[in-house]
Amino acid sequence: MDFHEVMLERNANFARTDFSPELKMMPSTGTIVVGCVDPRVDPATVLGLKLGETAVIRNVGGRVSHALIETLAVLSVVGAAAGRPGGARNLVLLQHTDCGIIGCHRHAPALLARYLDVEEAALDTMSIPDPYEAIALDIAALKTNLDLSDGLMVSGLVYDVTTGQVQTVVPPTRLRTPSN
Ligand SMILES: [Zn+2]
Repeated sequence: MDFHEVMLERNANFARTDFSPELKMMPSTGTIVVGCVDPRVDPATVLGLKLGETAVIRNVGGRVSHALIETLAVLSVVGAAAGRPGGARNLVLLQHTDCGIIGCHRHAPALLARYLDVEEAALDTMSIPDPYEAIALDIAALKTNLDLSDGLMVSGLVYDVTTGQVQTVVPPTRLRTPSN
């Protein structure tokens, strides 16, 4: 059996046993998780996310980029259209050790710079080899983005691919304290 057939068989099993037509388009926890495409770090599995609980966005590295911000903007409009103005309440960044973005930085920096929509020289300031530093930088970048709601709770987690454990590097904090 090739993998295509394996997936169809697993889907048939899912449709029989776990499917619920009651799920809503908006995540039941008001949470968006941003993670890496690496198959070892699927947020649904490593964080035990259940269907319908969270929206998950995955890119190379789980990094904050122009494309990610654009995706969040679209989701915010989708949320408003679905009757939940203000968008998500929680945004969780999940990055990980031994990420392929490190090799991409080393071997194809111009490509990675284009992907992240930054100047190539800026890559050296993005702590690409160190997810613990990178996640703090990315949370700081989110805080400066005025397109995101002040009340959004943001947090940063790093997953260690050698232990399976997640460490909270940036605990959940409000994106910005309200002015006045
Ligand atoms: Zn990765």
